[in-house]
Amino acid sequence: MHPINDFIYEALPARVLFGAGRLREVRQEVERLGGRRALVLSTPHQAELAQTVVELLGEVCVGLHDQAVMHVPSETVEAAMQQVTTLQADMLVALGGGSTIGLAKGIALETGLPILAIPTTYAGSEMTPIWGLTKAGRKTTGQNPVVKPRTVIYDPQLVMTLPSAMSVTSGINAMAHAVEGLYAENANPITSIMAEESIRALAQGLPLVRQNPGDLETRSQTLYGAWLAATVLSTVGMALHHKLCHVLGGSFNMPHAEVHTVILPQATAYNAGHAPAAMRAIGRALGADPTDAAGAIFDLSRSMAAPTSLRDLNFAKAQLSEAAAIASQNPYFNPRPITREGILELLERAYAGLRPEPVAIS
Ligand code: NAD
Repeated sequence: MHPINDFIYEALPARVLFGAGRLREVRQEVERLGGRRALVLSTPHQAELAQTVVELLGEVCVGLHDQAVMHVPSETVEAAMQQVTTLQADMLVALGGGSTIGLAKGIALETGLPILAIPTTYAGSEMTPIWGLTKAGRKTTGQNPVVKPRTVIYDPQLVMTLPSAMSVTSGINAMAHAVEGLYAENANPITSIMAEESIRALAQGLPLVRQNPGDLETRSQTLYGAWLAATVLSTVGMALHHKLCHVLGGSFNMPHAEVHTVILPQATAYNAGHAPAAMRAIGRALGADPTDAAGAIFDLSRSMAAPTSLRDLNFAKAQLSEAAAIASQNPYFNPRPITREGILELLERAYAGLRPEPVAIS
């Protein structure tokens, strides 16, 4: 259990619909938000499913923009903005993963248009007020309540098409929000309950999803875990793990969910001795000894044949030191103090894919 000390708990508003077939309620949800001219957004890859959403929306939809891409380049926001203006859209319906929801957020940042999000991965952007934009190769992020989706429809049927390897890494990406939420500077009993339950649901469900990506029950369980993780991400601050993933993704163009998967056990191990309550919660959720919480995350990934080393992701070893230097800049909260040497050692272990050693927990 999380120690009950002083805390501030500030929940962000959200209306969440969860369940198989809930997509069919999209029109009434758009109307509930006052939308009369919704623009649907998707990647080119998901255009067919997005067209189904256009049809479900009928006359409250003015069109489909299916040009979302990874990292939300500013040109893609500008192109979508033209369509928003031409079609006089009054609402955005984002169907897809973090990239599509990110495009909707980029538009909302400029226009204030409300977003209804229909996530199809486990990444978690749908619950947060965090936006990210890439301009001239540099990704900037920020927080603004205007970009937070007003309504989220979680329909596990939509995640069933996510290939099994992507499901695993996307699920560990979600788990990372929960793990860091447990030792966040502003951790509190409510988010810690959600975080522990999230880790449990994801750890139990992901191996089954991997075996059978089309099983609705385990898709529901894992999407539920992802929703809890996203809620934690939206409520408390993240630490070293997210910083490292941001550096490796933003400055070295490494793939988002895979990097989260490789770094999570190593970042957890780095913090283990300084976050005993978090390690106990992770241990309970994974059925592992708290001294070996990081190792248990590593074992979970390895058992699902997920990447466990930066070498596997073709990261250049010569860049480890530069990555460590960037990640140790701009002091930020982390349970264990950040040192460049410490981060370099962590990254070297991540590069080699070493299983974390057990750590004494007070
Ligand atoms: P993604 O949105 O980039 O999707 C990856 C690919 O999978 C795309 O081609 C997409 O079309 C396809 N895809 C998505 N769902 C599918 C499905 N159900 N079936 C088949 N294919 C499907 O990947 P992601 O991991 O969801 O998002 C990563 C991005 O989201 C990163 O840029 C990250 O920074 C951002 N993100 C932002 C936040 C936030 O709070 N702002 C939170 C998490 C992630």
